[in-house]
Amino acid sequence: MMVTESAQTRATIDLHTHTNASDGLDAPAELVANASQRGISVLGVTDHDTMDGLDAASEAAAQAGITLVPGVELSTTVDRAEVHVLGYFVDSTESDLRARLSDLAASRVRRVERMIVRLHELGYRVDGEAILAQAEEGSIGRPHVARALMEIGAVDSVNDAFERFLKAGRPAYIPRDPFSPEDAVGLLVRYSAIPVLAHPFSTKDIEGTLARLVPAGLKGLETYYAEYSSEQHAQLHAIADGWGLVPTGGSDYHGLGFREGRELGAAPVPQDAWERLSTLYADLAGGA
Ligand code: AMP
Ligand code: FE
Ligand code: FE
Ligand code: ZN
Repeated sequence: MMVTESAQTRATIDLHTHTNASDGLDAPAELVANASQRGISVLGVTDHDTMDGLDAASEAAAQAGITLVPGVELSTTVDRAEVHVLGYFVDSTESDLRARLSDLAASRVRRVERMIVRLHELGYRVDGEAILAQAEEGSIGRPHVARALMEIGAVDSVNDAFERFLKAGRPAYIPRDPFSPEDAVGLLVRYSAIPVLAHPFSTKDIEGTLARLVPAGLKGLETYYAEYSSEQHAQLHAIADGWGLVPTGGSDYHGLGFREGRELGAAPVPQDAWERLSTLYADLAGGA
């Protein structure tokens, strides 16, 4: 029946998305409009190392009748494996946290500058100024470099740019400034946000990572992720249960066509998991 179907679609919860404040394609209000169109009722906005998109997203979400979960995704590297830590319920007005994130964004700019130099040395004349201009609001990263490589016809796609130039071990790969995942979790805990390990299979060693991060204050594990198989989902749920972590998830949407399989709502989070996450925050905010 129509009513049931729309009630179900309305209930879609997506807790992992990006805007053009970092490497996504949609402006915050466009992301919210697209989410609304796809029947998303709870939307987590989790840009890389910046909260700059959150105010505009909250405003648009209030208009659209969507619950906006303010978030951030902190990027760290361990032995060349990507360890990303999501922080939910960040306070975008917290000036010390903003200052720490500005440091991370500045470190991203330095990293991208070195990538541009490297590409120029290799003979690929990407437009460095145009790339760096995008750092004026929010944060930049490898996808911005990838798009510049596409613009000069050096690669066919963003993925091609990562495979040939930008991922670890490729000629224009530049490591991040050291920032440990423990420090990322600690930063979020200090500002009363809820830290969650993003797309855990990227870390290569999930149990080892959790043994480091749970004592630091990690509270959740991103178990709902569209790229993972049902076996991997089952494995992650068992791991989350074992460590007493709240299962979360989302599409990791970066814009239409940015990456296959990452459309909004692609990895819906069940209502009860969302309630566990929001209860953690309510208890924290209530001083329980
Ligand atoms: P950075 O934050 O600068 O290290 O760049 C990493 C970001 O690039 C990730 O958050 C993804 O959004 C994106 N990314 C990584 N690998 C790929 C890929 N193969 N294709 C498209 N986007 C990618
Ligand atoms: Fe990204
Ligand atoms: Fe990530
Ligand atoms: Zn992400």
